[in-house]
This record gives sequence, C-alpha cells and structure tokens, in this order.
Amino acid sequence: MGARLAIDGGTPVRETMLPYGHQWVNGDDIAAVVGVLRSDWLTTGPKVAEFEQVFAAFVGAREAAAVSSGTAALHAAMYAVGIRPGDSAHGITKNENIPRAEVIVPPMTFASTANCVVFQGGTPVFADVDPGTLLIDPAQVEAKITPRTKAIIAVDYTGQPCDYDALRAIADRHSLILVADACHALGGSYKGRPVGTLADLNAFSFHPVKPITTGEGGMVTTDDPELARRMRVFRNHGITSDHRQREQLGSWFYEMVDLGYNCRLTDFQCALGMSQLRKLPEFVRRRQAIAQCYDDAFANIPEVSPLVVCQGVSHAYHLYVIQLELEHLQADRAQVFAALRAEGIGVNVHYIPVHLHAFYQQHFDTGPGDCPVAEAAYERVLSLPIFPAMSASEIDTVITAVGKVVHHFRRDSN
Ligand SMILES: *Cc1c(COP(=O)(O)O)cnc(C)c1O
Repeated sequence: MGARLAIDGGTPVRETMLPYGHQWVNGDDIAAVVGVLRSDWLTTGPKVAEFEQVFAAFVGAREAAAVSSGTAALHAAMYAVGIRPGDSAHGITKNENIPRAEVIVPPMTFASTANCVVFQGGTPVFADVDPGTLLIDPAQVEAKITPRTKAIIAVDYTGQPCDYDALRAIADRHSLILVADACHALGGSYKGRPVGTLADLNAFSFHPVKPITTGEGGMVTTDDPELARRMRVFRNHGITSDHRQREQLGSWFYEMVDLGYNCRLTDFQCALGMSQLRKLPEFVRRRQAIAQCYDDAFANIPEVSPLVVCQGVSHAYHLYVIQLELEHLQADRAQVFAALRAEGIGVNVHYIPVHLHAFYQQHFDTGPGDCPVAEAAYERVLSLPIFPAMSASEIDTVITAVGKVVHHFRRDSN
C-alpha cells in the first residue's frame, strides 16, 4: 500500500522544486570576477590567454581557444575543419552545384551539435546510438559514410566518453576529422586519457548547468596549432589580430581575411572560468558520489534502469539518466514525469532526438524511423537532479520520490 501521490492530492516528498542541475558559485569566484571588473581590460585582455593556457594544461592538450558558448565552440570547430557554405547565402560562392559537406552526428543530443554543421552550409547525417549507453554507435557511423563525409561529431552524452578507439579507427580509415562534443564530459576520461584530448577538436560549454560555468561560454581544445589559430580568427570577425595585439604593436592596421563572427569570451568570464576550473575535480567527485547513491538505490527497483557505464571510463555525470521499463508500469513517461514534478523533483528529458525537430524534418528530410534506437529511448528516458551542491537529504528525496511513484504505477506481477 503506497502513499497517495502529490499529483492525486497527496503530500509531496518535497515542498520546493529541486532543479536537475545548478551552478556552484562561491566567494573565490566572485572575487575573481570583481578583480577583473576593476582592471583596464573587460574583454580581449590578458585573462583570455591565461584561461586558455590553464584549460589546455588541465586537460593535457596543446591548445585551447575560448569562445562565447558551447554552440560557438562547435561552430568554430566546423569552421576550422573546413566545412564551408556551398550556397549563395553567404555571398562567398554563387555555385549552387558544390556538393554540401556531410558531418555525421548522433540524434541523442542538444540541437547545437547538428546546427553547427548547418551554420557552415553542411549537412548533418544522423547515426543511431547504442541502446545501453545511448552513445553514438561506431557501426552506425561507418554505415553512414559517403564520399561527401568530412567529419564525425561524437557526443559524450551524460558525461560518459564515447568509444574513441573505435571512432578514431573509423576516422583514420576514411580520412575524416573526429570532433568531440564534450559539453557534458569535462573532468571525465577514457582508458586513462582525459576528455579534451580524445578527438582532433574537443568542444566544451560553460552554461550554468554544465561541469563549470562562466555564465555563457565555451572552449575548444586541440593539439593542432593551425586549427587553434583558425578558431581565433573565426571568433574575431575573421580578423587576424586582436585589439590588444595591435595596441602592443602601436598599429592600427588589421586585415579581415575571412568571414568570421564575434564569439569572444570576456576577461571577467575567463577569470570566473579559471576559478571554477580549480574546483572541477571536487565537483566531479561529488557528481560521481551522487550517481553511486542512485545506482545503489535503483539496483532494487526493476522498473528503473540506469544507463550502462562502460569499463575503463571515468564518467563526469553531467546528467544522471534512467530508462523506465515501461512494460512493468501502468503509466507512460509523461505521467511519471508529471508525478515526479508534483513531488518536487525537477526531472527533465534529454533529449528530443534532433532529427525529429521540425527544422530538420522540413529542410533535411529526416523523420521517424531514421534512428529507431534513439527514438525508442526517447520514450523512456528521464534525467534526475544531479549537481555538486546537492545535499544528502536532497539525494534521499529523489530516491524516495522515484520509489513512491514507481510503486504507485507498478503493474501487478503474478
Ligand atoms: C549545452 C550543450 C551545447 C551548447 O552549449 P551552449 O553553451 O548552451 O551553447 C552543445 N552540445 C551539448 C551536448 C550540450 O549539452
């Protein structure tokens, strides 16, 4: 006999809504930002290169290029690898017959992973995911390669690194560039190699729910100085020098060599990023400890299956995703979602498969059936609250609420 659900008028497990993710900003972070606000350079100053160097050293890459968001990081990466608009919209070439470059992406991600390809005039091609991990399936990647394929973007969904040995072998065999959308995975590792060194270009986001935050912000790491140089041109309107470099040279001359954008990260954001990065190892330890509590609790709840975690990876746990075993429940995901929200648990859904968004269906002729594994997973995934500042009692309220709701909707076994 279970307690009455809050959605049916019972007492909720919590009085206030526990969010699925939340930043951790403390006095050190605030002092770092204020220090820059009192200095001469608010943007394009010394903190940018400093953050880039500290970040590159942290992950063990040669170069890092700071940009204004994770989306800008992915856009800069597509620019750097040479995805170019083949249409007349950008006025670069009038030749409509230039074939559009293809970039292979997974559907189980935020829209930016595919949008960055479209920004540069390319075509995203969706390759389905593995049903256990929901990470891009290397066999599906290989099946989608055509003579127009230029790159693969792997997404370290939830914070678990993809199978980079398999992806690297495929990329090398077909001369493709391997890009990691590592927006979930900063602080993780694969076979002892840190996230940030696993692909040719590795993109990060510093949105408040991500592993570290600068408000908005992003970074791309690479071992290739030429790719890093191109991304720094891209983020600054396609101009080869920045304001501070000209100031130092006492020169007014600059040259715009290509069409770029303003995707710069400010100095006070870079100061915040450096302060946050010092706390990242502790943030990741806390996320892993929360995940362990959930794993232990859900081992006894057969209606709830955590995602598979592979051997040899250190999972950064940006998200903790469960799959509902719907055959054992008298409710669908929407009902479980609504019931948990009513209990005060801010569950979320990551993600609506990107190929099902109206834009892709209309402009790229994608649709249901393209990626059956991701589409089936979408019907049963739920993201539970996980963020470093969660208290032990908050973790307990999540476990209690999941148990309460699942118990209520459980099918009678006989
Ligand atoms: C957050 C995120 C992005 C975009 O990052 P923004 O900083 O919000 O632009 C891209 N890809 C993935 C997988 C993300 O989670």
